[in-house]
Amino acid sequence: MSIGNGAHWGPSGVQPVAVELRGVIKEYGSRQARVRALDGVSVAFPTGTWTAVMGPSGSGKSTLLHCAAGLEKVDAGQVLVAGANITNASAAELTALRRGRVGFVFQTFNLVSSLTAEQNVELPLKLAGARTSRREVRRVLEAVGLGDRTRHKPGELSGGQQQRVAIARAMVSRPAVLFADEPTGALDSKSARDVLALLETMVSGSGQTIVMVTHDPTVAASATTVVFLRDGQVVDSAIRPSAHEVAGRLARLEH
Ligand code: ADP
Repeated sequence: MSIGNGAHWGPSGVQPVAVELRGVIKEYGSRQARVRALDGVSVAFPTGTWTAVMGPSGSGKSTLLHCAAGLEKVDAGQVLVAGANITNASAAELTALRRGRVGFVFQTFNLVSSLTAEQNVELPLKLAGARTSRREVRRVLEAVGLGDRTRHKPGELSGGQQQRVAIARAMVSRPAVLFADEPTGALDSKSARDVLALLETMVSGSGQTIVMVTHDPTVAASATTVVFLRDGQVVDSAIRPSAHEVAGRLARLEH
C-alpha cells in the first residue's frame, strides 16, 4: 500500500486526518439502470473525532461507510485511511487493511453464537494469524465493562452487552478507525445510551476515531460532528448539534 499524496504525519506518527475521501464517485448497476450512490464526495474525518453520517434513506450513507473502509472500490476519486492511499489497493492489501487498520460494528452484532465473549474477541486476531494474548482480550473486555462476562456466550448476554462484545472485538486489533453502521439500531434506549457512552469514552479518553452511520437524530447528537448527505453528496455539516437541530436539518433534506 502506498502512502497517499498529501498525507500528513503528526509528531507521533499519527495522522491528523484518519480517513479522507476526495471527489469520490461510486455507481451501481448496469448501463441502463445505473445509480450514482456517491456523487463527488469530499470529506475528512479527523483523528480523535466521532462523526455521524446522516441523510435520507438512499442518500449514500452505507456506500460512504463501505468505500471509506475499503469494503468497496470507488469508480473515481481517492480514499485515504490512516495515511495510506487505498484507492487502487489490491484485494490482499484491502484484507490486511480490514484486519489491522479498521474495525467494524454492525447493527446486528454479528457475534458467533457458539463462542464465548472472550473467544469472539479473540477471533479476528486468530484469523489474522496474530499471537493472541488472553490478557489483552481480557483487558479489552474489561474496558467495555464486561470483565465479569468473559465466559458467557452471546445468547446469555443482553443486546447491549452483545454490542459491547462486538465493540471489544473491533477494538482488539487497535484500529485507526472504528466504523459503525447503526450501532444502536437494535437496542432498547437504556442499552443504546450505554453503548453511546462507551463510544464517547473511547473518543474522549483514548482519542479513537469513529465514523458512524445512523438515521436517529438523538444518536447523531452524541457525535462530535454530523455530516449530512443527500443524493450522494455532502450537503451540510454541524459540530455538536442538539438532537432537535439534527432532526430539523434532516427534515429539510427529506423535502
Ligand atoms: P443509505 O445508506 O443512505 O440508505 P445507500 O448507500 O444504501 O443509502 O444507497 C445509495 C444508493 O445506491 C441507493 O439509490 C441505493 O438503492 C443504491 N445502492 C446501494 N447499494 C447498491 C447495490 N449493491 N446495488 C445497486 N444499487 C445500490
